[in-house]
Amino acid sequence: MIRAINFDDFKKLQKLKTPGSFHIKKLGANSGWDFWYYCPCGCGQLGVLTVGLTKPTRLLCWEWNGSYSEPTLDPFVSHGDHWFGWLHNGYWNAV
Ligand SMILES: [Zn+2]
Repeated sequence: MIRAINFDDFKKLQKLKTPGSFHIKKLGANSGWDFWYYCPCGCGQLGVLTVGLTKPTRLLCWEWNGSYSEPTLDPFVSHGDHWFGWLHNGYWNAV
């Protein structure tokens, strides 16, 4: 398991590239958030998911529990073609 660490400062996130770290950015009204994260595997790739607080209503949208310290996303995350797993209660768990 990899701890998911929140960075309020997007520039700092991009400087450190800590595996599993993330930054959440509010989109427009009723448009959800962008969830930026570094791949938990340590490859240094940045990914982004569109998340919302309710059940996804369109493709490429994840349900987020609203927590910055212990985030959970549903459904599972597929990063590129090499990392698959769940972000659950602040930890990345590969499957
Ligand atoms: Zn990776």
